[in-house]
Amino acid sequence: MKVSHIEHLGIAVKSLDEAIPYWENVLGLKCYAIEEVAEQKVKTAFFKLGQTKIELLEPTSEDSTIAKFIETRGIGVHHVALACENIEEQLADAEAHGVRLIDKTPRNGAEGLSIAFLHPKSTQGILTELCEDKNK
Ligand code: ZN
Repeated sequence: MKVSHIEHLGIAVKSLDEAIPYWENVLGLKCYAIEEVAEQKVKTAFFKLGQTKIELLEPTSEDSTIAKFIETRGIGVHHVALACENIEEQLADAEAHGVRLIDKTPRNGAEGLSIAFLHPKSTQGILTELCEDKNK
């Protein structure tokens, strides 16, 4: 596979209103976007940290995967997103290496990115998101 950098860290929070002040007031970052991704039943808030972003994820429904994650594991780091080009090729490559794909084909994520998740059981325990910015 070929990945270039950590595009963002996805962090599960119970409430954006409770979480954002930590990132803004303590760490001194600025939330530059809040976006609801209906498909994933989450509301997201974004911060820039160098080349990497922080994506806070608040569940908008009890059957959201983020709600289930918080229920079993608590709030905290949920996934690591790696930037790549030609996401379809990366997925095929991952599968060829025996990695279990959560998404066989890319779907739409926040910020207009094409995204696909790899199963943590085959990625050393790290829920991994591949991201491609097809607009650039
Ligand atoms: Zn993400």
